[in-house]
Amino acid sequence: MEQPSQYGNAVETASEMAGNPSREPDLGLFGKSSSELVSILGEYGEKPYRGRQLAEALYRQRLNHWDAITTLPATLRQRLAADGWTLGRPEIAESFRSIDGTERYLIQTAEDTVETVWMPEGDGTAEDASDTNADTSAEGGEKADEDDSDTGGWKRATICVSSQVGCAVNCQFCLTAKLGLQRNLTAGEIAGQVVAVLNRHKVVLNKKRVNLVFMGMGEPFLNYDNFMAAVRLLRDEVGIATQRMTVSTSGIVPAVRRFAQEPDRPRLAISLNAPNDSIRETLMPINRKWPIAELVDAVRAIPFRQREKITFEYVLLDGVTNRREDARELAALVRRSQLPCMVNLIAWNPGPGIAYSSPTQDSVLAFQQELVVAGIQTYIRRPRGRDIYAACGQLKRTTDQPPIPALVMPQ
Ligand code: SAH
Ligand code: SF4
Repeated sequence: MEQPSQYGNAVETASEMAGNPSREPDLGLFGKSSSELVSILGEYGEKPYRGRQLAEALYRQRLNHWDAITTLPATLRQRLAADGWTLGRPEIAESFRSIDGTERYLIQTAEDTVETVWMPEGDGTAEDASDTNADTSAEGGEKADEDDSDTGGWKRATICVSSQVGCAVNCQFCLTAKLGLQRNLTAGEIAGQVVAVLNRHKVVLNKKRVNLVFMGMGEPFLNYDNFMAAVRLLRDEVGIATQRMTVSTSGIVPAVRRFAQEPDRPRLAISLNAPNDSIRETLMPINRKWPIAELVDAVRAIPFRQREKITFEYVLLDGVTNRREDARELAALVRRSQLPCMVNLIAWNPGPGIAYSSPTQDSVLAFQQELVVAGIQTYIRRPRGRDIYAACGQLKRTTDQPPIPALVMPQ
């Protein structure tokens, strides 16, 4: 088990990096806002509309080759390229497809690779199920190997986005934690994952419903500025409303307090994962720094939109967090919080070198029942892409194939 001091250092390093994401001059254009592009092209003597055309090309038309950006004069493109400017959008380098239709991508950045997951027909999360008019079809009945090859075989999809390479938080049940923190992603690298995946599926945003969950690798709230810059890019330039985005945090209290001040922000999910501090701190060392009561207090300061609810995520570890008394204690905790909320139960997804067990389906249902009788809205997150290491907590840039059928739970 990590000592608190070691753990604290890792978090501080991550926070420092967040304030200083790039050490070299950044000549990648993808990731810059429309107004930044206007001022860059202004240096070349161009009128503001040229910068807006470039933004349109990068984010709405999602072009990634100079030749394709025909709205800009060829001479201007040549001058930009000659000065070292690149379009610089991350691209999909490798993909893995699950028998359930989920796809996991290794996305190439300038430095390394990062993981992103595509889940046609949603991800079965509470966020997903509560998405507009109670369309809860993600709770079952999906075709297992549906062809989602961009031709309209899906009506909505969720993209799970990474915010860091690896993670410093060291939750004991999470495979990403095994990587440690490698680095913070830039805003362009975070938003670029989404654009690359939208392109792969030829998504026309106003025809399909696409939700984003910032639940991939890393702790978004330890890369707060870049994460929020990516949110603004995705909202303003790419065109995805913040109501369609959910960010999950392990509970970085100062960042939750900043988040509460944001004029426009994604929805929030909190990785609670335990019914009390003593269990939580054995699973999530972060709890020693910011215990549950402090976290709940910080969440309470968020001005919620009408009908908005926060999600408490709760990973069920057999014999550790899925006992009847855990359910009762969790129900009491959630009710005491008086937050507009729902609970999202996640059966633990296994990974090599982690010595927990997944709960049985019956015990998951029994746990849910305890919460439901206590009047708490509770969903069970359907595991997606377990066979390709794409499910929650499994992102570790695994490249070994073939998939591991034993890990696939029938649903
Ligand atoms: N770092 C952020 C977001 C990424 S993790 C956070 O922790 O909230 C997304 C979710 O996956 C979290 O709720 C986390 O508790 C859960 N998770 C991590 N490892 C898991 C595993 N092996 N099985 C199931 N869920 C897991
Ligand atoms: Fe990091 Fe989230 Fe995994 Fe914890 S659960 S180690 S915060 S990615």
